[in-house]
Amino acid sequence: MIKGTDIIKRILHSTKEKRDGTVEEIYKYEFNLDFWNKQKKPLNIIWDEIHLVANSRDSQSKLNKCMSRFLSLGRRITGSDDSGYGHFIFIAQASRTIDVNIRDLCNEVRYHIMYWISECKNCHRGRWVTSEIKEIESCIYCGSWKLLRKNFMVKVFKFHDFINYQKWYEGWGKFYFEKLWITDIEKYFSHYNTHQIEGIFDDFV
Ligand SMILES: [Zn+2]
Repeated sequence: MIKGTDIIKRILHSTKEKRDGTVEEIYKYEFNLDFWNKQKKPLNIIWDEIHLVANSRDSQSKLNKCMSRFLSLGRRITGSDDSGYGHFIFIAQASRTIDVNIRDLCNEVRYHIMYWISECKNCHRGRWVTSEIKEIESCIYCGSWKLLRKNFMVKVFKFHDFINYQKWYEGWGKFYFEKLWITDIEKYFSHYNTHQIEGIFDDFV
């Protein structure tokens, strides 16, 4: 389990005596490089919902400064051995929420579209649905909300950088260097065994 303190260290910077005689402790926050240096290399770090901590609208916050340091040291942290480099992977639902520093540092961008068959439990008719569709899913034949999702597949587009991704997304042409289908994704659904990070920065904000 990754804790907030594995990323950010709180250090007592100074103390200030207030008029009523009580002492106020003033802390500063630093990126916890020691923790990451101690980890076995190469290291794969997968960060889901990156925008929850590295918000592009608040780049000067204490948290974001520590995150920037984390990111700029990315290659040193993930490290390498004979088998290759470790990977630092960020997952975001919407690209506009990703911090510009992360966008610039990426050496590959992948865009995933999930496809599945949405089968109605009421009238038993089905149709293909994708993750690009924004409306709430319901049966187009009978209007039922009782749907079974099956036959999951993922279409992946790979880009050399964020600029190429953006041009493609805006419809300027084929800017990806590879397109592929993942058809055995359901095999992996039951194998999720990852460190969960939930509310780890609650103590700092
Ligand atoms: Zn139906």
